Amino acid sequence: MEKLFAEVYVELKHRRLDRIFHYGIPPGLTDRIKVGARVVVPFGNKLHQGYVVNLVKRADVEKIKNIKELLDERPLFTPQDIELARWMADYYLCPFVAALECILPAGLKYENSTVIALLGSDEEAMSLLNSLKFMDTEAAEVLQFVLDKSSITRANLEKKFSGKNVARAIETLVDYGVISMKQQFRMTGFRREMSAILVRDEEISSDTQALANRAPKQGQLLSTLMDKKRLPVSLLLKQTGAPKSSLNALVAKGLVRLEEDTVAGKVIRQSDRPEVIHELTDKQEQVFRRVSSAIRDGKYAPFLLHGVTGSGKTEVYLRAVQRALEEGKSAVVLVPEIALASQMVSRFSQRFGEGIAVIHSGLSRAERLQEWMRVHRGQAKVVLGARSAVFAPVKDIGIIIIDEEHESSYKQDQVPKYHAREVAKARARQHEAALVLGSATPALESYLETQKRNYGLLTIDQRVTTRPLPVVAVVDMRQERRQGNSGIFSTALFQSLENCLGNGEQAILFLNRRGFASFLICDKCGFSIRCPHCDIALTHHTKGNKLMCHYCGYQQQVVTQCPRCGSPGIGGVGCGTQQVEEEMYRRFPDLSVIRMDVDNTRKQGAHQRLLDKFGSGEGSVLIGTQMVAKGLDFPNVTLVGVISADTGINLPDFRAWERTFQLLTQVAGRAGRGQRPGRVVVQTYQPDNPAVGRARTHDYLGFYRSELARRRQFGYPPFCRLIRVLITGQDEVKVKTGAEALSKVIKKNFLLHSAAGEILGPAPAPLAKIKGKHRWHLVAKSPDAEELKGVVSASLRQYSLEFDQQGTNLAVDVDPSGM
Ligand code: ADP
Ligand code: ZN
Ligand code: ZN
Repeated sequence: MEKLFAEVYVELKHRRLDRIFHYGIPPGLTDRIKVGARVVVPFGNKLHQGYVVNLVKRADVEKIKNIKELLDERPLFTPQDIELARWMADYYLCPFVAALECILPAGLKYENSTVIALLGSDEEAMSLLNSLKFMDTEAAEVLQFVLDKSSITRANLEKKFSGKNVARAIETLVDYGVISMKQQFRMTGFRREMSAILVRDEEISSDTQALANRAPKQGQLLSTLMDKKRLPVSLLLKQTGAPKSSLNALVAKGLVRLEEDTVAGKVIRQSDRPEVIHELTDKQEQVFRRVSSAIRDGKYAPFLLHGVTGSGKTEVYLRAVQRALEEGKSAVVLVPEIALASQMVSRFSQRFGEGIAVIHSGLSRAERLQEWMRVHRGQAKVVLGARSAVFAPVKDIGIIIIDEEHESSYKQDQVPKYHAREVAKARARQHEAALVLGSATPALESYLETQKRNYGLLTIDQRVTTRPLPVVAVVDMRQERRQGNSGIFSTALFQSLENCLGNGEQAILFLNRRGFASFLICDKCGFSIRCPHCDIALTHHTKGNKLMCHYCGYQQQVVTQCPRCGSPGIGGVGCGTQQVEEEMYRRFPDLSVIRMDVDNTRKQGAHQRLLDKFGSGEGSVLIGTQMVAKGLDFPNVTLVGVISADTGINLPDFRAWERTFQLLTQVAGRAGRGQRPGRVVVQTYQPDNPAVGRARTHDYLGFYRSELARRRQFGYPPFCRLIRVLITGQDEVKVKTGAEALSKVIKKNFLLHSAAGEILGPAPAPLAKIKGKHRWHLVAKSPDAEELKGVVSASLRQYSLEFDQQGTNLAVDVDPSGM
């Protein structure tokens, strides 16, 4: 037989080690090592986890090391997964292993640890223990402990005996030959257990009959398994009251097979109420037909579903998923944040019952792994989840749906900083599946793709019920100030509140996240100071009293007079949720207010509790940040007040206006969900900003056109591609010189390629210091995506080889969602 070698990626996510290494396959593992399995391999002088991506006949080195251990008897990832990880590594300029680890479930992690175990029999250890008690109490204590546990990790032992000299005690015991130390890979995060599985379904029933008389316990085990097909052993024994020996007897007879399984807590799916299935409206029907025929065709077919809030998009999703199942395929449905999508979860559970898997970050590692396994085994063919569910191990995908596709939570904020929409595209291509991106306010990129005919455009421009969209009133705060009102509430907002609350209705007061950046705005003319090169609001730094652009590093002195109208009233605006709460109590002393912000929603479930409280009518007013804007549906809310649209408009981010437009539209969608019409009041110093003006008239296309023109003028996506590199570290000088060096390398390479690319920065990041670490960033941009990627990745390699990076960390962000 021909000798095979395994091509392995080692878990070290280093840019320089990001390549295949060859390993030999020891005799015991021939035929068992498969592509898609994890293995333990020696690397340097340590053992590491590795991933087998190929088996080959020839190896590229002379002295080859062997694989030490096989971790998965059944492949964990597929050749398609390898292809997807390669695509990610290439697109996001990240190490292959980092990409592959996104695809594998988070709960599945082996830890490399030193395990201490008894050598020889318990009796031998006991007799040594007796003599040690008089000679070396410390070693005796340690031995006693190991004896009790029979094996323990060194780390746990050290924790247990902290403060004592464990190292010496261990050394003594090793010398006596009573314990051994071994480097071992241990699974963390969940228990491993065996499941019992019926071997031959058809023939079993007669066996059961026969066994029921001769061996009733075995008969019972079999009939229980006939029902369930597969059960964890512990559960099976508990349910039947049968002893393990009965099960072993069945295994020996070849009727039942045991297989290693993962067990975890139960994932709760809500499916309480019976479901109403609506007949589709004409518009919904048209949209459904196009998606449905794409699923049938089995070709990659991306669509943008642009439908106003309440236009019945979810109903279309449900039908499309149903359609995919009828075709014998599976479906993936992504929502921005599962915590905010409980209605979506219950609607999908009602329709698809146990056939759906819900994957999100609120689950424990074990629960997440269980859901992952259900999908992996094909028990669930519909996956509903947040960002990471885009990697769910579904086979033969018929459709991928991304609801609220414009949401920034689809972008992962750690390396690899992937966008679920891009990954979904790549996966839909692999599976020749339909892709539906749904939104009332599509991302500019997505809408542009429909104009270029790369995506099919599906539009639903009316709500299902003829209920009109709410009236949006924009209040000009410049005028308020001129009239002598210096408070948080404008007269209009105050009166609306009085009206709403007087009628026994509820209101939501919305603050844009205060933001880390403070900016200057003129309270007389609404002028805000922006970078002349980047058209980004300048950030006010009290240190040195400077204004700075966090894109290009441009600086200027703080002004005390408005450059446009000369007014001395130029300064900061905005307030926190607490101030609004205090003002509410001052104006409406008998009222009960619910405040919701990052401080009081940190605890698990706190967010939902506050919402439930508000939903049950316990408070009349809900005050909150972003988190109140999304996914809420309270029929008794008739007023939504936006305290200051300016905070959003002036975030130091090229997407600030787009985000503000989306947010205002979404907030407006919250009002008037019930029988009574809704009203939205938006306060701002910049009523002429298109984000505010177009949201007022519910004019997506109007906003799209004006924002696209601005992006073109200043060279932002979708006309230019951006790659942002963030360098962090404790030593500011090192961080800064690192950023400057990298910037130089990229600039030089741009020149060498006579490329159209350029560099913004390096500059301190908007959050210039987090947890003691200084942060500098630079942005490479170019209209030519391929060239940009080529230059930056070559430069990163060059930089990592030539430049001392000690004490600094580097993170690459391709297509940054904001900065
Ligand atoms: P969207 O997802 O676009 O915001 P939904 O799918 O949630 O809209 O629909 C809004 C409301 O209209 C929901 O209460 C839904 O049950 C209802 N609805 C959806 N489709 C229909 C229909 N064809 N006939 C009647 N009601 C419908
Ligand atoms: Zn002014
Ligand atoms: Zn600038």
